Amino acid sequence: MKTVTAVVVLALALSFSCSASQVGRDGGDPVQADGRHRPAVAAPQVPHSVRAKSLVLERSSPATSAMDIAASAQASKCEAIFTRALEDSRAIVHLRDLVAAAPKRLSGSKGYEDAVAFATQRLRDIGCDEVRTEPVLVPCWVRGEETASILSAEHVALRVTALGGSVPTIAGGLEAEVMMVKSFEQLRELGDAARGKIVFFNRAMPRAFLRTFQAYGDAVPQRSNGAVEAAKVGALAAIVRSMTTSIDGHPHTGAMRYDDAVAKIPAAAIATADAELLARKLAESTSPVMVRLVLGCRNQPDVNASNVVAEIRGSELPDEVVVLGGHLDAWDLGEGAHDDGAGCAQTIEAMRLLMACGIRPRRTIRAVLFANEENGLRGGIAYDAAHGSERHVAAIETDSGGATPFGFSCTIAREAAGPYRDLLAPLAAYHCDAFAPGGGGGADIGPLAARGVPCFGLVTDSQRYFDYHHSALDVVSSVNERELALGAAAVAYLALALADQ
Ligand SMILES: [Zn+2]
Repeated sequence: MKTVTAVVVLALALSFSCSASQVGRDGGDPVQADGRHRPAVAAPQVPHSVRAKSLVLERSSPATSAMDIAASAQASKCEAIFTRALEDSRAIVHLRDLVAAAPKRLSGSKGYEDAVAFATQRLRDIGCDEVRTEPVLVPCWVRGEETASILSAEHVALRVTALGGSVPTIAGGLEAEVMMVKSFEQLRELGDAARGKIVFFNRAMPRAFLRTFQAYGDAVPQRSNGAVEAAKVGALAAIVRSMTTSIDGHPHTGAMRYDDAVAKIPAAAIATADAELLARKLAESTSPVMVRLVLGCRNQPDVNASNVVAEIRGSELPDEVVVLGGHLDAWDLGEGAHDDGAGCAQTIEAMRLLMACGIRPRRTIRAVLFANEENGLRGGIAYDAAHGSERHVAAIETDSGGATPFGFSCTIAREAAGPYRDLLAPLAAYHCDAFAPGGGGGADIGPLAARGVPCFGLVTDSQRYFDYHHSALDVVSSVNERELALGAAAVAYLALALADQ
């Protein structure tokens, strides 16, 4: 997940409904009283459990209305999907295989093409009706050498990574005094004092926010706009404290932007532990603290890439579409396991689950694995340019990591979102019916949202997400198989419910 606006909107919307009183009232996982899993169900017609029935009956009276029968049928399909997801999940297999095929898959790289080849083949192998690639022209930014050190009596190395899109330092690197700020306002007050220096943005993600996406939204402008703001006051480079709630030794990369009206200066992130160290040096030192920064990254001409698209054709209204997707590109420091390998694995698995359960939706469910979310959003824009005029009844994005799903945010305002809230009711049995109307859907489906298409974003437990996000720690071993599987089931169910409504 990248887009700042979307993150903030989502975070604000999540001051919501995810309370213990709202989930799991009479739900629980599909394990029998003797502790064994329920037997597998091959089709949605299999009678659903007493627990799931009671959930529907609580919401419905009289129980014989057409609406209740439809709701009961949806609850039955939901249970079939979750039961199969928990008993026979392939989500972690899709994720492992994706990462094995394309451990590094930043847009414009050979690894991204490997990811496209893998995903195309996997979607064919699971039996989707139609699988194709669609062209997207993407930026090509290449990481190079990257080092930084404090130039004291003994040089102290800082663990550093270039921000995506950064220009390089001058050949051989640059050396300059460091000036620390915690806000753009503070930087502007410094005025000329920052000229010729390296600006060090050291505002931490606020720890008090329960939803860490909200904390990210608070701090991330330092990363995305720090180079522009620092250049405006004549600085030579920008260094930002990594965007994570952890204090550790891993720098976290991410997108940054330039303004053509302002000088382009190099920008990098340092590990939070090293940010604390640098801040201490600045507080203790009686003389200027000098840092040497070397970045060898460079921007190259755009290259041809692809979105990957696959469908389960609708039985009654095949020309009406529900989009379900995540982004296939990832930052290059780790394996992009949570961001967004998890979303790709869940999208593929959702399609497999629906087919494995023998479900044919009324409308077409279209899986889209988007290119270039992290450093350009061109995949989402290209999808919209090619398909935006088609009848999209809804779109779902899963790009909040592979942790336990809590529910969904939605772009529809609260006053108009009642019917969508009702669709989530069967998810209560899986503690996944939290609903945040008026929030975001996702960056890749943002262009569809701008057309008025109802867009949904999977909401997950966010406490550990930024431990891994955009760093070398975002690897498959940090993803839990069952948590990932639950997210796949949740998006499969919602896609179906939206396609059948
Ligand atoms: Zn992402």
